[in-house]
Amino acid sequence: MTDFTYAVDAEGVATITWDVAEKSMNVMNQPGFELLDSLIDKGLANEGVKGIIITSGKKDFAGGMDLNVIAQMKAAGGDNPAKSVFEATMAMHGILRKIERAGMDPKTLKGGKPIVAALPGTALGIGFEIPLACHRIIAADNPKAKIGLPEIMVGIFPGAGGTTRLVRKMGAMMAAPFLLEGKLSAPKAAKAAGLIDEVVAPEDLLTRAKEWVLGAKDADLVKPWDAKGYKMPGGAPYHPAGFMTFVGASAMVLGKTMGVYPAAKALLAAVYEGALVPFDTALKIEARWFTNVLMNPSSSAMIRSLFINKEALEKGAVRPALPDQKVAKVGVIGAGMMGAGIAYVSANAGIEVVLVDAKQEAADKGKAYSEGLLDKGIARKKVTAEKKAEVLGRITATTDYAALAGCDLIVEAVFEDMAIKAEVTAKVEAVVGPDCIFATNTSTLPISDLAKASARPDQFIGIHFFSPVDKMLLVEIIRGKATGDRAVAKALDFVRQIRKTPIVVNDARFFYANRCIIPYINEGIRMVAEGVEPVLVENAAKLVGMPLGPLQLVDETSIDLGVKIAKATRLAMGDAYPDGAVDAVLFAMADQGRLGKKSNSGFYSYDDAGKRQGLWDGLASAYPVAEDQPELTLVQHRLLMAQVLEAVRALEEGVLMDIREGDVGAILGWGFAPWSGGPLSWLDMIGAARAVEICDGLSAEFGARFAAPALLREMAEKGESFYGRFAPVQKAA
Ligand code: NAD
Repeated sequence: MTDFTYAVDAEGVATITWDVAEKSMNVMNQPGFELLDSLIDKGLANEGVKGIIITSGKKDFAGGMDLNVIAQMKAAGGDNPAKSVFEATMAMHGILRKIERAGMDPKTLKGGKPIVAALPGTALGIGFEIPLACHRIIAADNPKAKIGLPEIMVGIFPGAGGTTRLVRKMGAMMAAPFLLEGKLSAPKAAKAAGLIDEVVAPEDLLTRAKEWVLGAKDADLVKPWDAKGYKMPGGAPYHPAGFMTFVGASAMVLGKTMGVYPAAKALLAAVYEGALVPFDTALKIEARWFTNVLMNPSSSAMIRSLFINKEALEKGAVRPALPDQKVAKVGVIGAGMMGAGIAYVSANAGIEVVLVDAKQEAADKGKAYSEGLLDKGIARKKVTAEKKAEVLGRITATTDYAALAGCDLIVEAVFEDMAIKAEVTAKVEAVVGPDCIFATNTSTLPISDLAKASARPDQFIGIHFFSPVDKMLLVEIIRGKATGDRAVAKALDFVRQIRKTPIVVNDARFFYANRCIIPYINEGIRMVAEGVEPVLVENAAKLVGMPLGPLQLVDETSIDLGVKIAKATRLAMGDAYPDGAVDAVLFAMADQGRLGKKSNSGFYSYDDAGKRQGLWDGLASAYPVAEDQPELTLVQHRLLMAQVLEAVRALEEGVLMDIREGDVGAILGWGFAPWSGGPLSWLDMIGAARAVEICDGLSAEFGARFAAPALLREMAEKGESFYGRFAPVQKAA
């Protein structure tokens, strides 16, 4: 175990260097903590040591805790996992508190040894909580480095003293964005915000750290909260100013999270209760709330989907084992909304782009989209003028297919029309080399049918982006019947280059994401037609953690698109088409020109500037509200099950090949209640038996669309869970 090394120089300054073997980023685990503890003991016990520098042997300081440790902490507790988690958390507090006190006399606050954190780069989570316990934090001026506490993003909160220390250091109000939103800052911004003490040139980092250690006085080692007369900046909760902060923060957190994220509430409780008591008691309170959150199934599910499995998919967990297929030159055909976005993300990732449209004007407009985004970046100081020139220089906007020669990947994003796409496929294949992979961005047409236009169907694949391309994190890769492994590897390597998260699914109507989201929208519309209060529909969705209610969502994606999809689906399904009641509403809206946000009118009303005002009052006269309104839970079950059952069917039919993709794809693709860890995680949370019971109730009342899939029924009978039964076999990347 060599995660940390220890050396003392001639002047008596000890350096503890964090450098985890065979990893590009340091992460903390249980043995790592024990080693750090022993090295701190060693430094403090050695009379010849004047002080300690904690730094890293890598370009960054640390990425955080190895989140697998949490599962290990629970498992170590056997029948009483909470006890084990609490004790392990208190042990971490003990080590960090030892660093903070550094051997000083607790009464006189004298005689401690200075301990400084010297951060060469990124310092996240526990990688910032350790520095927070040190007496000074010095960071190298590395604009790419990120410093902060992002724990809340995966459903937990900083539980190694980060919460308590940051609030005591800067006050609850100032600490709020860093704790509640996981805001990360580059070193200079971190210094300006008061997160760290100093920023120095990278080459001076260790010299400056040593200089500080050698010059530190007793008073420099005493944290404000350990000094007499400490008052929390901005006021503790019982102070009038502090009172305002806490009331406001509670309202804001509940408004933003709708109460479904246990970590945000627990964090606030830890801060509030901790502010009323001495520091060491506050740490204990923090540990209790941290344990409480870790014992909540939501946190495990969020960590599993949003951290462990998301990363596994990004690193190629489902990639065929083939040589590197990195893209050098991509041809994007169709410079409309999607094509323009795809060109931008590709060029931004360093890939040469040929952007082809039928008219030069359209191609230029597509390229101008990148320029607009880069200009916005410049205005926000995120992009430099050189970077803008570089990115734009990579995009050739043209009508000339011959310019596609030399492309190793094509992404087609022309009109959603089989004949046009077939024509484009043939034209492209006439100019590109024999190894070029052809991808279509279609959202509704079967890949296997489109591949018929290709002379090389094994090199034909779906790469389905979501709109807006530059913001949406998920990319769905669709294997047609004839798609070969190299096309899959190419698509995955491309998605990795543009730093998005991929899922790979088989070819079936609407693939995966749209297959689940369309029934959600339809269920919402159906309820309006039945006389359910539209406000109840929208709020029920939000209260269960959906980012947008179904009516707002269809307004955003546009009602005429809904009409188009409904017509095509009806044509394909014939008598089996189940959504007549939905279409009546949708078509009536479209007939009145209420096309959603883009026409400034839809299920919602909008002002002239396009700002959403509230639900359209005409809805009430068109679809009178019934006197008896359903229970909130019933509305929520309908909205959730509409999506979740499609995810189960997709798995049952082999469209989804890996449950991790089902959950990660749902959260990143359409924002499925992130607190749940995804639709399959949610089913595991409530249990297959309870899910079947809900389905039986819903299908008896509302129809066969809610019938429990055979797979779910079988799992209920056998007492199985999705992650128990379908736990993926870990494949090497
Ligand atoms: P769009 O209408 O904005 O853009 C299509 C572009 O293709 C236009 O600029 C058009 O001039 C160009 N074009 C048409 N025929 C061409 C040809 N023969 N050669 C070259 N260029 C041609 O459409 P969009 O919204 O960008 O959608 C494009 C594709 O992406 C469709 O297949 C659509 O289903 C799919 N898609 C759309 C979304 C979405 O949210 N809009 C999401 C995912 C996938």
